[in-house]
Amino acid sequence: MFVSIRGRVLVNVEALNMTESVGNYVKHRRVPVILPTGGYTAFFVPAISGESIAHGFQQVLAEVAKSSNLPVCSLCERGIFLKSTNEEVIKKAFNVAKVPKDEHEVEALIVKNCVVEDVGGFLYAPKGGGQVKRTSNFATGYMIPVKEALESTVIEPQLHMRYALGTPFVKSKRAAGQLGQMIYYVELASSVYAFSFDLDTKFIGKATYSIDHVGEDLVDNVKERVKSALQALELFISEFMFGAKRTRFLPVVEWESLVIAVSDDVWTVPSPNSAKYVKESINKLQSVNPNVNLFIYINPDVLKGTTEYIRKKTDELVETMKLVIEDWKKNIREKLPDYADKIDWDKIVKEKLESLISSRLSEVAEAGDLRYISEIQKVYQEAQGMAEEAPRTALFSDLSKCVKNAIGEGLKRI
Ligand SMILES: [Zn+2]
Repeated sequence: MFVSIRGRVLVNVEALNMTESVGNYVKHRRVPVILPTGGYTAFFVPAISGESIAHGFQQVLAEVAKSSNLPVCSLCERGIFLKSTNEEVIKKAFNVAKVPKDEHEVEALIVKNCVVEDVGGFLYAPKGGGQVKRTSNFATGYMIPVKEALESTVIEPQLHMRYALGTPFVKSKRAAGQLGQMIYYVELASSVYAFSFDLDTKFIGKATYSIDHVGEDLVDNVKERVKSALQALELFISEFMFGAKRTRFLPVVEWESLVIAVSDDVWTVPSPNSAKYVKESINKLQSVNPNVNLFIYINPDVLKGTTEYIRKKTDELVETMKLVIEDWKKNIREKLPDYADKIDWDKIVKEKLESLISSRLSEVAEAGDLRYISEIQKVYQEAQGMAEEAPRTALFSDLSKCVKNAIGEGLKRI
């Protein structure tokens, strides 16, 4: 079974993936991204690494596996993913006195005794050779701002200060810097990020390294392990369980859209870099279909955004116009009474209204707050229409229901 997840998520004031700190300044991770803008322009934008996402998923997996009484090694269960790096690590993690010499036996030992390394892979590289590698059964990557949001993404350092007035620690200048009124900066970022995660259950609980044993069962509870991986995935997505600095910089998170495909064989949801990906997923399903079921969530707010905004603006506009015209009429009747009856008011009103409304509407459409929403709204509306008609496609206006149903389909297929 293959589960593919792509989504677009608005994350405000996040510090989920920080890189170095320079003195008292902590930097957000930045990556170069190329955007076609006639030619190509490079942007340095905030990003959340795939390593960070993978770490989060494996932490959830360790918890879920343990609560299902499945084995997890003593390091992974504490979120220390050394992943059987060398002999010392294996001895400590699995509480064994010796590491087998045979490569297949090494893989069997690790897979049998740790669901995290079974699902998430490991790299055993002992001194003197004999390395064994297991590729992760899930794949994820950098979360970067989506195409439409690339130019309006921001990173901003925020000043923080530890309050210590009235203590002896702020009396000397030196102590003030080190202990007392400590000031520090944390870079925060806000953007709509693209999210990707694939899970392939084909090799869970099975041998992958030694060519003579590939595909053989290494455990007798493959199904329970797959179930555990799916349950962890559900929790991980619906609770957004990854990233750093969450204790004091818990971000404001709102999914814009999410597409989950559950299939028998490899079938990935197209890249969510553009909002068109929902439509592309539905189209792809029609041409390539290894027993795929699609589960689509579109945030209802995205669908109603622009229309309501423009309606409100237009109403305001017409009200203002009415007042202005009444004022004109009154003025002309008072000051130029001879002309008042000769003027075709209806015609003037019509012309003025038309020109004012069209100029105000283009102003409204170009406004920064609307550019993003108007660009994507139409795309989502079309996707919504397609999703309602398409076979094997379920559309949700509730995120947790979407995730629950998708994982439910996965559990049925085990
Ligand atoms: Zn482990």
